[in-house]
Amino acid sequence: MFLICAPAPQQAQQRPMAKQLDYHTLREIFTRFQDADAAPVGELDHVNVYTLVVAVALSAQATDAGVNRATKELFRIADTPQKMLDLGEEGVIAHIKTIGLYRNKAKNVIKLSRILVEQYGGDVPCSRAALESLPGVGRKTANVVLNMWWRHPAQAVDTHIFRVGNRSGIAPGKTVDAVERAIEDNIPVDFQLHAHHWLILHGRYHCKARKPQCPTCIIRDLCQYEDKTL
Ligand code: SF4
Repeated sequence: MFLICAPAPQQAQQRPMAKQLDYHTLREIFTRFQDADAAPVGELDHVNVYTLVVAVALSAQATDAGVNRATKELFRIADTPQKMLDLGEEGVIAHIKTIGLYRNKAKNVIKLSRILVEQYGGDVPCSRAALESLPGVGRKTANVVLNMWWRHPAQAVDTHIFRVGNRSGIAPGKTVDAVERAIEDNIPVDFQLHAHHWLILHGRYHCKARKPQCPTCIIRDLCQYEDKTL
């Protein structure tokens, strides 16, 4: 099971940013996250690193549940780049047409599969640059794969992390890149591997966009957000 990111925001927030929290406060926050969930996991199904790349690429502007429904049969038939090529673009479309932007995504799945076969012998390369060079794979997708499969402490900043980081002061920044840097620069390294999932889960289930659940939030006393809900 695997957690997938929501779309990354590109615009700066309107309200003034919270101040960057200090080292001791961040250590306390992530200790609480860790105590609550020592090994956070996600919700996007995959059977190997190749299907993880495909699943993450398919998940843009789609729900995890929707992607899982579509890939259940797709990955049973095509769990390698060569099998995906054998299935062909129309075959991929037949499985993923319930997902948004499915035509373009099917095109990219076939293109990236061809590159993996022709340039990497059917393997998935484990570098950010190589991953990002694949059609339909951006920095966020590459970071998810690096983090989840190769356990590299890469931070894939999505809309949840962007919101939590800015509201709380955990990782304030006007852009996705700035928030990514704030996480890498400030969060103690022993928490960096799981920071990605702790922040996404916190944003998805507690620090919600419209109505954050501040009264029950485990970091309420440390959070800098000025408009906490009562
Ligand atoms: S206290 Fe409220 S705003 Fe702060 S992190 Fe918790 S849910 Fe989000």
